[in-house]
Amino acid sequence: MSNSAEPGALLDLTLTAGERAFRDEVATWLAENAPRERRPYDGRAMVEFDRAWQRRQFDAGWAGISWPAEYGGRGLSLVQQVIWYSEYARAGAPTETGVCFVGNAHAGPTLIACADEQLKQRHLPAILSGEEIWCQGFSEPGAGSDLAGLSTRAAVDGDHLVVNGQKIWTSYAHHAQQQELLVRTSTGARRQDGITWVVCPMDTPGIEARPITTITGHDDFCAVFYDDVRIPLSNVVGTIDDGWRVAMSTLSFERGTGFLPEQVELVARVDELVELARTRTDRAGRTLICDAGWAERLATARAEAHAVLAMTLAVVSRNARSTLPGPEASMVRLLFSQLQQRVSALAVDLRGLEGLQEGSPWVHDYLYLFATTIAAGTKDVQRSIVAERVLGLPRGR
Ligand SMILES: Cc1cc2nc3c(=O)[nH]c(=O)nc-3n(C[C@H](O)[C@H](O)[C@H](O)COP(=O)(O)OP(=O)(O)OC[C@H]3O[C@@H](n4cnc5c(N)ncnc54)[C@H](O)[C@@H]3O)c2cc1C
Repeated sequence: MSNSAEPGALLDLTLTAGERAFRDEVATWLAENAPRERRPYDGRAMVEFDRAWQRRQFDAGWAGISWPAEYGGRGLSLVQQVIWYSEYARAGAPTETGVCFVGNAHAGPTLIACADEQLKQRHLPAILSGEEIWCQGFSEPGAGSDLAGLSTRAAVDGDHLVVNGQKIWTSYAHHAQQQELLVRTSTGARRQDGITWVVCPMDTPGIEARPITTITGHDDFCAVFYDDVRIPLSNVVGTIDDGWRVAMSTLSFERGTGFLPEQVELVARVDELVELARTRTDRAGRTLICDAGWAERLATARAEAHAVLAMTLAVVSRNARSTLPGPEASMVRLLFSQLQQRVSALAVDLRGLEGLQEGSPWVHDYLYLFATTIAAGTKDVQRSIVAERVLGLPRGR
């Protein structure tokens, strides 16, 4: 793969003959199989839609392209994974952060990197087939950005952990079968010590998930309560008290390659807006693209979308040489999340009154994307990571 232009491609790549053949195979399959209908936003319809689409990709051999073949993946390269995302975006396939996101984007990769064979065999094929939906139980009322401050306790009792406490903002907890759960198993010299990463089956007695309605009017996430919840010790990933190391790999996947499909799609989305501006006219009958103000916003968005994608590809090519994304992933996450918000505002503005209609997908995206600079670490936290771990600046405190 190199970075000279390939006509008509979303990604600025020159592909080998084998990669071109792969791209054509992907494009053909997606043209015939990608759902045409818009993804429902809520409830059973959303869950069934996401699961069915995941299952269709799995049955055809397109789930887990870069995951090891022994766990149901294809064992292909990250370049092929990126080609898939590129064609996926071009085909207009659903790129929303669906109910299969946690399993595919960070729980699964964490299990591949850190879990024992028994957990990998049990969960990885089930994630890829859409049988298991996963959620992430990291944040607590007193521990969000300050994740090491978490206080949900787990005591070892025989061959079980017994969990008591509360998590919050757990996306799709009410739909999930499994959870990547962080608990405090002891107190060490540092607050990061004594944390454990464990697979928590969501049907275990003592778990209550209470949905929270968001600004979009949908029940996207939950407060989750644990009352003497017994989880087998064999579900611990890594070792007891060593969960911080495992959690850092989860977060590096979440902030690194987890949003790759959306990053690829954003370029296509901006191109659609440019096309829209060529057809829409202002009150004087001029096309919007001829207006200096609109043209500047669109050109800036297009340049920024390509820049974010180029940075994503740099992270991906670094990933090809190591098992975990580095702190540079936070630069991509920071720029991408803010750009997503600007592009969704542009999409509403360009459509005028039509863009403001209740129930319109543009209003939904605009409202939903307020969360994007908070989820997976707030923009302030990403800035601190870039300052300290990429630029080597001194810690603020
Ligand atoms: C849509 C959405 C989905 C989510 N899904 C999940 C999920 O599935 N599982 C899960 O565990 N969590 C989830 N979260 C929670 C998310 O990880 C937290 O909201 C995030 O980490 C911030 O934590 P907090 O909400 O406690 O805010 P706080 O940490 O209390 O931050 C409040 C404000 O203070 C700022 N701040 C805090 N500390 C610093 C600092 N050191 N330097 C500078 N500024 C600082 C923050 O930037 C923010 O502006 C989700 C959040 C959203 C919005």
